[in-house]
Amino acid sequence: EKERLDKLREVPATTRDNQRVMLRANIGLISDINIARKNGAEGVGLYRTEFPYMARSSFPDREDQYQLYKRVIEDFKGEPVTIRTLDIGGDKALPYFTPPQEDNPFMGWRSVRVSLDNREIFQTQIEAILMAAVHGPIRLLFPMISNFEEIRSCKEIVHEAKQNLKRLGIPYEENIPLGAMIEVPAAVRISPHLAKEVDFFSLGTNDLVQYLLAADRGNNLVERYYDPLHPAVLLSIEYLAQVAKQHDTDICLCGEMATDPACLLALIGLGIRQFSISAPYIPRLKEFINSIDSTEATKLAAEILTLPESKAIRARLLEKIDNFS
Ligand code: PEP
Ligand code: MG
Repeated sequence: EKERLDKLREVPATTRDNQRVMLRANIGLISDINIARKNGAEGVGLYRTEFPYMARSSFPDREDQYQLYKRVIEDFKGEPVTIRTLDIGGDKALPYFTPPQEDNPFMGWRSVRVSLDNREIFQTQIEAILMAAVHGPIRLLFPMISNFEEIRSCKEIVHEAKQNLKRLGIPYEENIPLGAMIEVPAAVRISPHLAKEVDFFSLGTNDLVQYLLAADRGNNLVERYYDPLHPAVLLSIEYLAQVAKQHDTDICLCGEMATDPACLLALIGLGIRQFSISAPYIPRLKEFINSIDSTEATKLAAEILTLPESKAIRARLLEKIDNFS
């Protein structure tokens, strides 16, 4: 079996009816780069930069961050790398940056909220990303956007970062694509406005599912409530996919749910064509995508969107998967 999956590395993911699907990697540590390349990832859809921040004893300076991001983009040899700015808080802490005690950290001071309140750290990271983007197709992604002002503020800081680098005479990429993570239900609903401000969406279903269903993604007690095939999740994704299409906004889904074939079939049916996942899943999912028909997936998606509960939805998806094989 290993040989069979190895062969898939060079084969593109294409449905039986010739719809191209992109499978990119989620990475955190430098060691993930090799794993991504070995498994045939088409670039990086999500680089979680909090990991290199966590593995140190103080905030890395601009030069250190630049060297790190440069290494990542060079290792991917021309394939796109989406770098997400710091996403701490919630369940992720830094050893040298003690967040305040909060009763409800996932609803609290996390992610881009922390960055916007620490402008110096935020701008330094953005400057390092702009500098690294000289060496290849880097895209800059802001996590956990929950309102319009936030994306405006992020863009302002990008502007200031560019001005600063220009002043210092440091080379940087002027035309870096900017993206918003859509992982808070409010962002789904205002996505038509966000689409006018950014070049791409990154759909973070790990958080979107937790926030839509009021079910902590890390709490075993509510595991059965954390359900990616809940109709509310699928309807939200359908809405976002439509908005992205109307506004011609590039969209990549980077949550774990894409690693479940039943979910992946639903997502392809809803019109998503780019996924970013943990790289070891890529060969198997490629094989799965190569076995399905996207027109039938689209028809099936329309049908499951009318169903009231996920059990019936999953049953229909599994039945379809059986028919494909
Ligand atoms: C997500 O929320 O879906 C996501 C990809 O980001 P993270 O898992 O890092 O929160
Ligand atoms: Mg998230």
